[in-house]
Amino acid sequence: MQGLIDGFRRFRENYFEEKRELFSALATGGQAPKVLLIGCCDSRVDPTTIFCSQPGDLFVLRNVANLVPPYAPDSGHHGTSAAVEFAVRNLEVKHIVVLGHAGCGGVKALLDQQASEGSDFISGWMEIARTARDRALALTLSAGQPIESARRMCEHETVAISMANLMTFPWVRERVQDGRLAVHGLYFDLEDGALFRLDPGTNAFQRV
Ligand SMILES: [Zn+2]
Repeated sequence: MQGLIDGFRRFRENYFEEKRELFSALATGGQAPKVLLIGCCDSRVDPTTIFCSQPGDLFVLRNVANLVPPYAPDSGHHGTSAAVEFAVRNLEVKHIVVLGHAGCGGVKALLDQQASEGSDFISGWMEIARTARDRALALTLSAGQPIESARRMCEHETVAISMANLMTFPWVRERVQDGRLAVHGLYFDLEDGALFRLDPGTNAFQRV
């Protein structure tokens, strides 16, 4: 805990002082981010670090494996859907970016049933990506590919599934159709420091 306090003091003395005007404008004028970024909780994949963004730039939503569930307006506690709704309907963001990443623990749990056995919430949450697991395992194992190929394929698929599920939200679909909103897919490879973008034409990730 002391590390956090020390870190805050450094932030306060350096970063905050340097950007005092920005913080003041954000405090009085409110936030108006143009981008909703949906990423994984993974501590190694911090969107504001990766994209060198400033406070107020990104509305960040992080959960296990950067997943968006399908639109389901019922009495459940839909934390992810609520954040998507706030960003789209209240903040009117112009872009939604889904950011997947290499070495995702959520995807590992999805592929390795034992890893998520006994979990209260993780296996149920990862059900959102079950079709990805089935497809990746069928493709890679039948072709004699190592499990790493299935894992990477699944990590890519979490991005595609979230993008497809976003379109089940009527107010997302409506804005995408009339050009007010665009949905993008990215994938970050931590080891190489490489970023890939999902090309909707080929449905493949291209390095940027
Ligand atoms: Zn992850």
